[in-house]
Amino acid sequence: MVGLYNVFLFALVSSQTIFKEEVKPTSQEVNFLTRYGYLPPQPHGSDFSVTAQSISEAVKKMQKFAGLPPTGELDPETMKLFRRRRCGMKDILDAKTKNRLKRYILQQGWDKKTITYRVHNGSSTLEQSRVEAIMTAGLAVWAPHGNLRFIQVEETKADIEVSFVSKDHGDGFPFDGPGRIVAHAFPPPHGAMHFDDDELWGDSPDEDNEDVTDLFAVAVHEIGHALGLSHSDVKASVMYPYYQVPVEKLHEDDILGMHELYLKEATTSTPAEFLYAKPSSSVPRFTKSDISYEEEDDIPDLCFTNYNTIQSMQGKLFVFEEEWMWVLSRRRKIIDGYPKKIHDVFVGLPKYIDVIKTIYEKRNGHIVIFSGRFFWEFSSRYRLIKRGRLSEYSVPPQVSELTSVFISNYNNKTYLIEYEKFWRFDEHTMTMDKGYPKEMSAWRKVPYPVDAALIWEGDTFFFRGPRFWRFDNNKIQAHEYYPLPTAQIWFPCALTPEMASYTTNEDI
Ligand SMILES: [Zn+2]
Ligand SMILES: [Zn+2]
Repeated sequence: MVGLYNVFLFALVSSQTIFKEEVKPTSQEVNFLTRYGYLPPQPHGSDFSVTAQSISEAVKKMQKFAGLPPTGELDPETMKLFRRRRCGMKDILDAKTKNRLKRYILQQGWDKKTITYRVHNGSSTLEQSRVEAIMTAGLAVWAPHGNLRFIQVEETKADIEVSFVSKDHGDGFPFDGPGRIVAHAFPPPHGAMHFDDDELWGDSPDEDNEDVTDLFAVAVHEIGHALGLSHSDVKASVMYPYYQVPVEKLHEDDILGMHELYLKEATTSTPAEFLYAKPSSSVPRFTKSDISYEEEDDIPDLCFTNYNTIQSMQGKLFVFEEEWMWVLSRRRKIIDGYPKKIHDVFVGLPKYIDVIKTIYEKRNGHIVIFSGRFFWEFSSRYRLIKRGRLSEYSVPPQVSELTSVFISNYNNKTYLIEYEKFWRFDEHTMTMDKGYPKEMSAWRKVPYPVDAALIWEGDTFFFRGPRFWRFDNNKIQAHEYYPLPTAQIWFPCALTPEMASYTTNEDI
């Protein structure tokens, strides 16, 4: 291998424009990029197909995954990544396809709800009983999100076998002494979890302590692998590959992964409290208690409800409320057969997504539904094409969900709205426009957060609660005669005395 790296470094020297100040990757760094899936595996004994350009691309991917600006250059912040303590498992599972969706397709969960674990030994610095206590606490963090039960065993072989080992320990993934790789764990049905015993393991997290590695933080991460999760590029998530302390709870991204693996079929498992929590508003909304459909049947009354969202797609108007959707061919004309249940139309949308709050039609005609940091893309005939992550839209990792997405008819750009901020994305180049995010207050006299934003017959409309606003592109503010009631203008709802029973609720 040494000879190959020499050839490789020579190639870099001859095209040093890629790297500033002659900073070139060492063989160790190339190793790193390969090990974690940023570079394809190097074929033994054959000519290197790796060029300085492919290194630069790999470095970009690594930077993006870590949450650094993807410059492709080995700047000091990037160089730090090579030396940081981290998990030994791959970041990119399939470098060929670049397809992050593989995250859940390649990985699988346990096909049972009761999972056994066994701790083989303590570390040089932590007694076995202490390690067992930490493992138990770590497993308890994950258990509720997959309806899982963990049972400790001592004699028999367990599903998850925990041990402290060092250097080459027989599984083909040797540890590397103090620092860098601190642990790894294998997905089901293997389940083994190895901690590098050359680390100084402790149980009081201290970010600044370079010497002591917090076992609980690492254990919670490795348990994620042993349950079938792979690495996440969401920095606040437990499945982020680099060591961070303290670990106190799971992130939405971790929890969604568990839902994908263990709760797909369950209908009672809505992570709604974090997916759909919204800041309070001062705009009138219907309150649940005043909606009378509940006793009669399950279908909300289109005339007396808030709307999860409304969108114009395929030249029609789509309305979403709870698990129902309506399609109108033009204003006030519902297409026969609607309302329908969202899962009957969008087959393949996970059951735990029980409301659609963010949806839009791409420039290529595909329909995309967003939930949390994930999206599901359907063909124009509602066939599931792919599942992806917000990062594909270049949305920063700290954004936990988008509340509305629409394409402007003015510039064909995609506007991605999150509560009080919005970004402008170019689907053609798949890049975010510079200068974003901007504040929603830029849409003057439109209240925010909005439930929906759409283009209809050339005009831009914003919806919130039971009302809507039309945006005046000339004055760059909401038109003065708005808001108006959504139900009476857009849907076949008569102006009735009950309209006076609009209930306001400051706290929804
Ligand atoms: Zn890991
Ligand atoms: Zn191992």
